[in-house]
This record gives sequence, structure tokens and C-alpha cells, in this order.
Amino acid sequence: MLITHDTECALSILVELLNTSPGACGSEQLPDVAALSSFVVGQEISEIDSLTPADLAAVHALRTKLRAVFSAASTEEAAELVNAVVAAAGTTPRLTNHDQHDWHIHYFAPHAALGDHLAAELGMALAFIVMAGERERLRRCEAPDCARVFVDLSRNRSRRYCDSRTCGNRLHVAAYRARQRSAEAADAAEAVGAARAVDAAEAVPTG
Ligand SMILES: [Zn+2]
Ligand SMILES: [Zn+2]
Repeated sequence: MLITHDTECALSILVELLNTSPGACGSEQLPDVAALSSFVVGQEISEIDSLTPADLAAVHALRTKLRAVFSAASTEEAAELVNAVVAAAGTTPRLTNHDQHDWHIHYFAPHAALGDHLAAELGMALAFIVMAGERERLRRCEAPDCARVFVDLSRNRSRRYCDSRTCGNRLHVAAYRARQRSAEAADAAEAVGAARAVDAAEAVPTG
């Protein structure tokens, strides 16, 4: 998959952001500017100085637009949604190696407000997923009582649940069962192989 480490980081912020919405987890996790500030610090979002209620409103609105990409019915629809988000953000790609990071590209305009900053970075991360033909990795948790989203970066795209505490448990149980099944299959294959080896040995003409 042609997804860079930077895109993976942006996708992780995207998932965290989308899962703060009341639609995803039952209550608003970004109810005020203080909560938004701790989100910015926690996610290590750079070049953000002070936040206002306008920033909070912009982030709430952006969240809805980004979430729509996860439920887009077609790639065309996803592309249109992503293009709209990125175009509104006024992106200016530039190389940077701030804070001892390796060289990477910032898509947000210098000193962009948080909403535009996130729209540029997270919108571009989604653009890369669509471009790589990996849109199916944008998933909604399959637990019946959960509406969180996640990006399935597993090799075989087999992930079904988000990593919240309850669903994470389901995830572990499912992974455990899958490991057990494949161990049993391996044992069975080994038994068949051993039986064949015996047959082959017996088939060798002697004398
Ligand atoms: Zn950076
Ligand atoms: Zn879940």
C-alpha cells in the first residue's frame, strides 16, 4: 500500500477527531475550547497558538464533512467530498523539518486556523487513501452499539472493530479465535503432511 508514515499519523489524528463526536460515542468529547486545546496538545498538532469558540465551531463542522467520506457510496462521491474539504482549506504544500522531525510536507497554509489546518492535513491524508485505491480501509466499527470509525491498516484488511475499550476487547477475542483457527489448520495440515510422508515412504520400492 502506498501510504506513507506521515499519512498514517494524519489518519490517526483523523480517527481520534471523528470519534470525539456525539454521533460516534454518545456524548460530545470536544464541548469547549479547553477540550479542543487538550486535543491539539495530545495529538501534537503544530503551529497552533490560541483557540477561540470560532475554532471550535469550525472543527465541529469539519468533523461532519470528514466523517461523510467514510460513508461515501462511491469513490466519485468520496473524491468530491475530499476535494471540497481540501479546496476550502487553502492548502500550500511546503517541506519542513521542524522539531527534529525528518523532512515532511505540511499542507496547511502557514498560521492557518485550526479548522483549516486540520482540513488540509486530514483531507490530504484521505486523498492519498482514495488515490491508493484503499477507500475500503475507512471503516465504521461493526459492534452493534458503536458508531466509531477506524482506518484498517492491517495487511489483510480484516479488522472489524474500533480500538475503544469495549470494542478493543472484541478485537482481541476475535484475533485470539483467528489465531486458534489458524493453529488448528496448521496442525491439521501437518498431520496430513505426515500421513503423506508415511505413504511415500511405504511406496518406495525396497530391495
Ligand atoms: Zn510537521
Ligand atoms: Zn467500536
